[in-house]
Amino acid sequence: MLSPLSLFGILIVSCLTSVAILGSLHRTTVPGLVRWCAAYSLVAAASLLVLLVGLPLSREVIVVTALFTVLAVLLLVQGTREFFGMKPVRNRELAAAIIVFAELVWFTWMSPNADARVVLFSLVSAYGRIAVGTLALRYAPREGARYPYRFVGVAAYLGALIHVARIVAIAFGIAPHATLLQPTPWNTLFLGLAIVTLPCMSIGMVMLTHDQLIRRMEWLATVDELTGILMRRAFIAQANLMLLDGALARKSVSVALLDIDNFKSINDGFGHAVGDRVLRHVASVVATQLRPSDVFGRLGGEEFAIVFSDAREAEAEALTNALRLAVEQTPSSGVCCTLSAGVSRVALGEKLEDVMARADAALYMAKATGRNRVVTAPWDDMREVQGLPVQV
Ligand code: GH3
Ligand code: MG
Ligand code: MG
Repeated sequence: MLSPLSLFGILIVSCLTSVAILGSLHRTTVPGLVRWCAAYSLVAAASLLVLLVGLPLSREVIVVTALFTVLAVLLLVQGTREFFGMKPVRNRELAAAIIVFAELVWFTWMSPNADARVVLFSLVSAYGRIAVGTLALRYAPREGARYPYRFVGVAAYLGALIHVARIVAIAFGIAPHATLLQPTPWNTLFLGLAIVTLPCMSIGMVMLTHDQLIRRMEWLATVDELTGILMRRAFIAQANLMLLDGALARKSVSVALLDIDNFKSINDGFGHAVGDRVLRHVASVVATQLRPSDVFGRLGGEEFAIVFSDAREAEAEALTNALRLAVEQTPSSGVCCTLSAGVSRVALGEKLEDVMARADAALYMAKATGRNRVVTAPWDDMREVQGLPVQV
């Protein structure tokens, strides 16, 4: 049977491996990584101390080990909060940790009691794992892969279960009195299981970090940094899907192209930074007015596009006009702006580029006839879509 001391050796190696892997991701600046690394370093340091000193452990070593363990648990929980964008430090948690540490000192120095110490150790460890597992399961993003979050949740809860079982075994006198380092089957079982769940949690944390990196990359590839709406490529991709869905469901789909009027004069008169603010403002006014099923994107510069689901041109024109009015009536930082738009319905089976060209011609008409208006592509233009049946 493996002795507890050799198990501590394995624990050190697995914690240092976790530190190396989590540390290699430091460059990603994912929140929480530094605290997670520090937590695993502290567990490795505490285990190393125990291994170096050997049996019997002096009171000083026990107290230092207790301090490192409590700090490691705090850092693990704080790192997970940080990862999910929360304030990492909670005063009540900090106060509880200080009380537990004081009790550990008490049961080491003033009134030595190995069972009480083990119960306190396990209580702190179980708390840390339950907190990490609950955070991972509760704050997992609604969209995208949930697997990494469930993995962390399960690994953390299993770890907590082991510590709770240990408390129960001591409380009911099932486990014979023994310090953590005595080579009893209970200690071997407990340490062995703890050694399995700790690296599992760090693997889960690496998975969380990767998931956040993937989400960042997806965001960078689809969302326009300035306005927070879809960028051209992502808009075109989603718009094509909507056209396909519309054709399959035999529902009318319409497209609107929007262009801010005389935007160059806003840049020239107020500066580029104000121009940027106006762009953000217009995008946000439009985005908040749209129906959830519509798709909205920035084609480039001060040009935007919308695909209206389940909308014929009359409805699309009315919706676009409402957007135009909303933009006109809500100045941004004292700067008023208006927009012009061209609208066209998608003929059945028509390609996006063709309907966009027609909407663009309508937008050109809106600009040519005074700006701050919405023009719908004439029905005659629809008939010109050669060789395609026109939806009625
Ligand atoms: P029109 O009414 O005919 O559309 O006139 P306009 O001035 O809006 O159109 P024009 O194409 O002449 O000018 C568009 C300007 O938008 C020129 C360009 O410098 C500016 N622009 C493009 N992208 C950005 C951006 O990201 N930020 C800012 N501030 N300006 C931008
Ligand atoms: Mg313009
Ligand atoms: Mg333009």
